[in-house]
Amino acid sequence: MPQPVINLSRGMPPVELFPTEELIECGEAALRRDGDVLLQYGRSPGYAPLREWLGEQHGVGPEQVLIGNGSLEILSFATQTLLRPGDRAFVESPSYDRAITMLRRAGAQVVGIPMEDDGMDMAALDGELQRGPPALMYLITDFHNPTGITTSLEKRARLAALAEEHGFWIAEDSPYRLLRYEGQDIPSLWSLAPERVLLLSSFSKLLAPGLRLGYAVGPADAISTLANWAVDTYIGPVLPTQGMVYEYCRRGLLERNIERLKGVYRPRLQAVLAALEKHLPQASWPRPEGGFYVGVTLPQGVEMASLLARSEEARLKLSDGRGFFPHPPDGDRFLRFPFCSVTPEEIEEGMSRLACIL
Ligand code: PMP
Repeated sequence: MPQPVINLSRGMPPVELFPTEELIECGEAALRRDGDVLLQYGRSPGYAPLREWLGEQHGVGPEQVLIGNGSLEILSFATQTLLRPGDRAFVESPSYDRAITMLRRAGAQVVGIPMEDDGMDMAALDGELQRGPPALMYLITDFHNPTGITTSLEKRARLAALAEEHGFWIAEDSPYRLLRYEGQDIPSLWSLAPERVLLLSSFSKLLAPGLRLGYAVGPADAISTLANWAVDTYIGPVLPTQGMVYEYCRRGLLERNIERLKGVYRPRLQAVLAALEKHLPQASWPRPEGGFYVGVTLPQGVEMASLLARSEEARLKLSDGRGFFPHPPDGDRFLRFPFCSVTPEEIEEGMSRLACIL
């Protein structure tokens, strides 16, 4: 029998952690209580009680909250309303591959700013700003996908000041923020520049991605622009899952679920860091304090195409690091390790297989 494949490539939550029974109950309760609203065409900014609840969590009124079918689609609305073809969009390099695609699809010229262990390289950013400000900057400030890096408070303050000075928009994509396993929270960029930042977040990693439930918090006029765009796209978003999740939050279950997830994910992060030290001491990586990923730069001399071919023979599934870089060759030695869906034993075995094929 061939040994089982170890998948170190996909950033999905493990299915056994979905709170299915509780969601069934909450869905039923929501439909019984408010079925007429949840099954009708809804208002484009989302189910009113959930908007209200999310606003309270962020200390703003519901007019500053838009709920949609996943945060990625809201990002696509933002790229279509804030960018014109030919505009520059700055992203971290590497960044979330789908966000890069989305910016390009809106016609943006995507400029990658290299990352350091505490966020964007600010000297490189200053250099690019001298060539002209972007219309939009896309950042993942907490437990970045794909590196796991968290942007320091100093860099957040500088980014906030630059957005205000140059008048550009920042989309701060923060789906992992509440999954912190160590250390202290850092104020969001949105809290530092609320007039310039659209904060995006999601229930995909806190509950289940199939709910397709994401949201944006931002200035009321920007939220209203996004809501108008949403009406012309789908009239109103899918509401039954919004009712279900509102009921879940109203019952105080979300916080408990997040604690449960942290209890499973924390040892997986520790296992991946320990396995890297043991098996890949010649590589380099940051030390994430939360989220789903650790991004690893492999030693000089490794070449992605041949590594991927060897990994198939070793029954190891890896993601091609080049996909995360606006300039793909920059990712020729980069691997992203999502650690949440693999057990500590699989992580140890996977890293040991990788060490053998480097
Ligand atoms: N942003 C980032 C940074 C992500 O990593 C992901 C999921 N991989 C998403 C957005 C997608 O979020 P949603 O499911 O809410 O569309």
